[in-house]
Parts: sequence; C-alpha cells; structure tokens
Amino acid sequence: MLNFLEKYFLPSDYFVNFNIITPEYLKERNITAVITDLDNTLVGYDEPHANETVTRWFKSMKENDIKITIVSNGNKVRVSEFCDPHDINYIFSAKKPLGRGYRKAVRMMGTRKSETVMVGDQLMTDILGANMEGVKSILVLPVKSRDGWSTRANRSIERIIMRYFNRKGLINWRQ
Ligand SMILES: [Mg+2]
Repeated sequence: MLNFLEKYFLPSDYFVNFNIITPEYLKERNITAVITDLDNTLVGYDEPHANETVTRWFKSMKENDIKITIVSNGNKVRVSEFCDPHDINYIFSAKKPLGRGYRKAVRMMGTRKSETVMVGDQLMTDILGANMEGVKSILVLPVKSRDGWSTRANRSIERIIMRYFNRKGLINWRQ
C-alpha cells in the first residue's frame, strides 16, 4: 500500500509556484519539454487569461528552447481562449489522469517521455497521470485556495496522501 502511494502519487519535485521553475533547472535535468496544467497551476480556475507572470514564463521557456503544451481537463473554450493569444499548443478535455493527453502532448512536441515534465497542482490528476506514463512531475501549490467543484473531492484524498509523504520526510518545497 505504502509503496503504491509513492509509485503513483509522489512527484519528482515540489515548487511553491510555477514561475520559479527556470529553464536552467530543467536543462540541468535534461528536460526539454513541459506539459503544464492550466487551472490553479498557471492562474485561478476563474481567470480567463494569462497574466504578466504567465506570459513572461512562457517567453523565457521559448527563448531557451523548452517546449510547452498545456494539457487541461477544461473545455475547448476555456483552454483555447487562454492559449491562443500566446500561441501555446494545448489539449483540452484531456481526462487526466488518463494517459492519452500526455502521450499526445509528447508526440506533438517530438520529445521523449524521459525528457518531459508535467507541472500541475493536483496529485490525483496531474501527478498520477504523469507517473503512470513515465513522465517526470512537479507539484505546485494551487495559485488560489478556491477550486472548481470537480476538484474538491480530490483535494480531501490529496490531503491524506500529502500527510503521509510529509511524515516520511518526502516533501521539500522549493521556493
Ligand atoms: Mg489544476
């Protein structure tokens, strides 16, 4: 049971916020591509557009030849309105933690799974899916404490798993 939790839910790393994940950090780990979640990872689920921090982060990744694809469980309108102004590739209605969206993103970016990292705020979707697909994973803290209704049940399970990781000393937030 315990090994099971680590195998499926333990992220490769923890950052308090996506914007402190740097191209240098990724390059040191031979990561050339980022799959990122949208809601509560880059902006709050109720914020339709990328803010300046997000825009700058996209730009610094592009300038350093790090590819980005947004893989979101959100619908087409939500995800395309966010991504299109910034010319960011995306997959909507991805049904994370199912693997299809991850595989499609890796295919679109032309990278290998071992060179790809998933950035997301949820263990039950973003991190679980990445671990099942053999993609590296970074857990970030949600940018807002409020979640959409579909996320709330996952959060209570997540808290139990995080408490277990914490007791084992497996959590070390980079900030
Ligand atoms: Mg999210």
